[in-house]
Amino acid sequence: MTDLRPLIFKKQNEEAFTPPEIHAFVKSLNSKEPPPDEQIASLLAFIFCRGMNKLECFHLMNEMRLSGDQIRRDKFPADAYLMDKHSTGGVGDKISLPLVPLVAACSEEIYIPMIAGRGLGHTGGTIDKLESIPGCRTRWSAREIETLLKRERACFAAQSEKMAPADRVLYALRDITGTVASIPLVVSSILSKKLSESLDYLLLDLKYGDGAFFPEAERSEELGGWLVEIAREAGVVCDLFQTAMQAPLGDYSGNLLEILETELILQGDGPSDSTQLSREFAKAFLQRSGIEEQEAESRIQEKIRSGEALRYWERMIKAQGGNLSKLRAKLKSLKQRLKRKRILAPQSGYLHWKSKALGWSLVALGGGRRRATDRIQAEVGLFHPLKEAEFVEKGQSLLEIYHLPTQSIEEAEDYARSSYEIREESFSAPPLIRKVWRDEHKLSTEPRISQSRAERGP
Ligand code: URA
Repeated sequence: MTDLRPLIFKKQNEEAFTPPEIHAFVKSLNSKEPPPDEQIASLLAFIFCRGMNKLECFHLMNEMRLSGDQIRRDKFPADAYLMDKHSTGGVGDKISLPLVPLVAACSEEIYIPMIAGRGLGHTGGTIDKLESIPGCRTRWSAREIETLLKRERACFAAQSEKMAPADRVLYALRDITGTVASIPLVVSSILSKKLSESLDYLLLDLKYGDGAFFPEAERSEELGGWLVEIAREAGVVCDLFQTAMQAPLGDYSGNLLEILETELILQGDGPSDSTQLSREFAKAFLQRSGIEEQEAESRIQEKIRSGEALRYWERMIKAQGGNLSKLRAKLKSLKQRLKRKRILAPQSGYLHWKSKALGWSLVALGGGRRRATDRIQAEVGLFHPLKEAEFVEKGQSLLEIYHLPTQSIEEAEDYARSSYEIREESFSAPPLIRKVWRDEHKLSTEPRISQSRAERGP
């Protein structure tokens, strides 16, 4: 059994770990004789409190990445671009779902091996949303992802046991020991999975505002700075968009309801905010592959108008085993099968959202998990079409809770009632996109994660 006490004492004394120490630690996690959970948890707690420098964080990320299978870059054409997007998580944030087919419909040179996560705390997860589609498979091995990608150029996959397995061990312990919100631990966790995809380009959607894990704009910027620096050091071109999560994104939150909104966005009938982000991110992907801004905009417009973006989504879902006719029937009958509880404005004024409580309302409905073993109720959800700072009349419906006829919604309703304030004074909503940092490096189709560079570190 590996004894982590020397590392625990080192972190107690605020000393930095060496690359060989980090290598041995990460290797031990999936070995036959792993350290006891108590020691791993203690080490995580000291890292949480004492921090890590960027060099330690880089090596931790890289060792975690190398702990499992990788997508092999050489399986794809030399002039292809492997691209992906990651969001730091929010409420109603379904942008990955329309983004991937939209980009794939617009360019034959871009491949998107999107490895995505499940809901976490009050935030939703792309994989849970996809699994609300009848038959849709999300568990693929790295080799199966390569096969899917070669055929469809885009896929959605859950992290398998074999990809970044060290993160699975660490993440499960962080989740139950209150050590999630540590910048070096978040960065190494996110990037170890994303960089297993052998990416050329990563777009990071850095959320700030009430529903984000790091709500203060400055702290979220600090997280963004670390993410970009570590990803770029690993050779991945990385753009960072800082976007608002004070209000829920789009009109719907809830797994199947977000599939409905995805289809609306792809048909050109989506809400203004989720449509804007999907199009902006798609444009960034296309521009990174060498397409001029105007051409990128008109391709996006045309693929939505002609129905090709929606058809690409259908093609992807079919390739992943999803049953489209069952999906259509489910979406059509969704609102009839659910009961609706309206939350009315107690007075007239200007609406200020607190989206974290909305996220918890969805969890209380069964649309998210409290424990890893909880089963998701895919159909329940929330309809919240009003935007931040909008004027509302007393008695106007602020949001609707869609629930099963048999379920109690007391807790979900309490959360929903604490998810907004009505202000007397008018105020300005924060911009949907607060800041953008673009990498000055251009994409080349040279293999990106060069081993020697990855080993050297920042
Ligand atoms: N998402 C992850 O994958 N890991 C974290 O630590 C936080 C968000």
